Amino acid sequence: MKIQNSTKEAAMSSKGETELGENFAERVYANQRKLRSNLKPQYDFIICGSGSSGSVVARRLAENPDVSVLLLEAGGDDDVPSVTDAD
Ligand SMILES: Cc1cc2nc3c(=O)[nH]c(=O)nc-3n(C[C@H](O)[C@H](O)[C@H](O)COP(=O)(O)OP(=O)(O)OC[C@H]3O[C@@H](n4cnc5c(N)ncnc54)[C@H](O)[C@@H]3O)c2cc1C
Repeated sequence: MKIQNSTKEAAMSSKGETELGENFAERVYANQRKLRSNLKPQYDFIICGSGSSGSVVARRLAENPDVSVLLLEAGGDDDVPSVTDAD
C-alpha cells in the first residue's frame, strides 16, 4: 500500500505537515465526494456512526469485495484546529 511504503512522500513540508498527510486528506475528500454523489438504493450493511468502533467495523466489512457497506456519520467536520493541530 502506497501510504505505508512511501517514506519520501512523508518528508516534512515547509508548513510542518507531511506531503503524505496532505495527499491522503485530498484523496479522502475526493473519495467521499464521489461516494456521496453515487449512493445506492440499498446496502448489505449500514453502520451508524463513524466513531472509533463504527469506522473499524465498516473498514473490516469493506474488506470483502462482495458486500456493500454504507457508513453514516451525523457529526460535524473534524477538519478543525483542535484535531489537525493537536500536539
Ligand atoms: C474528551 C475525550 C477524550 C478522550 N480521550 C481518550 C483517550 O485519550 N484515549 C481513549 O482510549 N479514549 C478516549 N476517549 C474515549 C473515546 O473517545 C471513546 O471511548 C470512543 O470514542 C467510543 O467509541 P464509539 O465508537 O463507541 O463512539 P464514538 O467514537 O463517540 O462514535 C460515535 C459516532 O456516532 C455518531 N452518531 C451518533 N448518532 C448518530 C446517528 N443517529 N447517525 C449517524 N451517526 C451518529 C457520532 O457523531 C459519532 O461520530 C475520550 C473521550 C472524550 C469525550
